[in-house]
This record gives sequence, C-alpha cells and structure tokens, in this order.
Amino acid sequence: MNILLIEDDEVLADGLMHTLSKSGFRLSNAVTGAYAEQLLQAQGFDLVILDLGLPDMDGLQLLRRLRNQKLAIPILILSARDQMDDRIEGISQGADDYMIKPFELRELEARINALIRRCYGGFTHMIEVGDLQLDTQNQQILLNGELFALSAREFAVLELLMLKHGKVVAKDKIAQHLSSQGEYLADNAIEVLIHRVRKRIETHAVVIRTVRGLGYLLEGTIDD
Ligand code: CA
Repeated sequence: MNILLIEDDEVLADGLMHTLSKSGFRLSNAVTGAYAEQLLQAQGFDLVILDLGLPDMDGLQLLRRLRNQKLAIPILILSARDQMDDRIEGISQGADDYMIKPFELRELEARINALIRRCYGGFTHMIEVGDLQLDTQNQQILLNGELFALSAREFAVLELLMLKHGKVVAKDKIAQHLSSQGEYLADNAIEVLIHRVRKRIETHAVVIRTVRGLGYLLEGTIDD
C-alpha cells in the first residue's frame, strides 16, 4: 500500500514514516500542498493522510481541489483542529475520516486499516483471487494461507492487480504505483516484470490477462 503523508511537521512526519513503514506501508511525504498535488499526479497512491495547517495552503482547500479532480482514493485528515465544526467541515469536503492531534499511533493504524478495508476489500482485509490472498492489514500476499515469497517489485505489481482484480489496470498506472517506491520502470521493463509475475502465479488458479492497448487484468480461473 502506498500512502502519501501530507504533513509539514518534520518530527511528526519522520515518526509516522518510521512506524508505518515498519508495518509494511510504503510512505512518501509532501510538506506543501503544491508538492502533494505534483506527487499525486505523478505517482499511484492508495491512501492520503492530510494535515490541515500546511505552509502554502489550507488542507481543506487542497482536499476540495483533489475531490474536484475526481481523485477517488481514501483521505484521512490528521489535524490539531479539534472543534466539532472542523470535523464536520472536513468530512463534508470529502475526507473519509478525521483524527485529532495528539493521537495514538495504534489508533491511527487501526483507522488506516479500516479505511483500506472499506475502500478495497469490502468487509474484510483479505482480498482473495484464485489461490492467492492479499492481506491488506499485514501487507502480505499469501498462497493458500502461507506467505508467498515475492521480490519487492513483484509484490507491488501483484498487490495493485489484486486490489483492482477483475478490472483493467493501465501500464502507466503500474509505472506510477512502482514510482512511489522510487522505481522508475520503462514500458518494456514492466512487460518483463508482468511476465515474471505471470510465471510465478500460473499454477495458482489466477491469471494476468493482457488487454491489448489498455493494460492488464488479474482474475481467478475456475478450478477443475
Ligand atoms: Ca501543519
């Protein structure tokens, strides 16, 4: 899971990056609203954590802009503004959750997991396709319940395809998803990577189909 942390407090951002990456999330930090917008355009994120007091704009203004651009990923506001009106305003402008600073890290993590579950997994944190299970809470892919060993790149691609299973994922979306981990892959490198992942999963009741000109689609195959 790629998380964009929009937070200008360096100490808090460092602490969050450290703790959440230990839980398996991949984090990027933007200290201004403008930089956050740039990152969101260039890279693929699955969740945004948004501070409201940013140096160049109000977080609510950024939130409105993102929602106007039809950015559909879950956004959690993390703010010291603790009045009921602030929370109502944040939620009605399009935030999915609102947490007040100071906060307990454990609670933040639980809420992140709840948002991911709600937005990607329905009611469960396990997304199942064929014999594979994506555990969105522990950031793992399992094969029939056992940990499926994958390289970081393979994991990132398969995670994205599993999150969007049954839907076509464009090649540039895959490139964006990988670029938020600092990897910049050319088209042919993505083809090679897909080929590798395909080989890894081919006997596990799941297949990556190529939809010519559009991208790739992961789906379960029916067992005999
Ligand atoms: Ca701030």
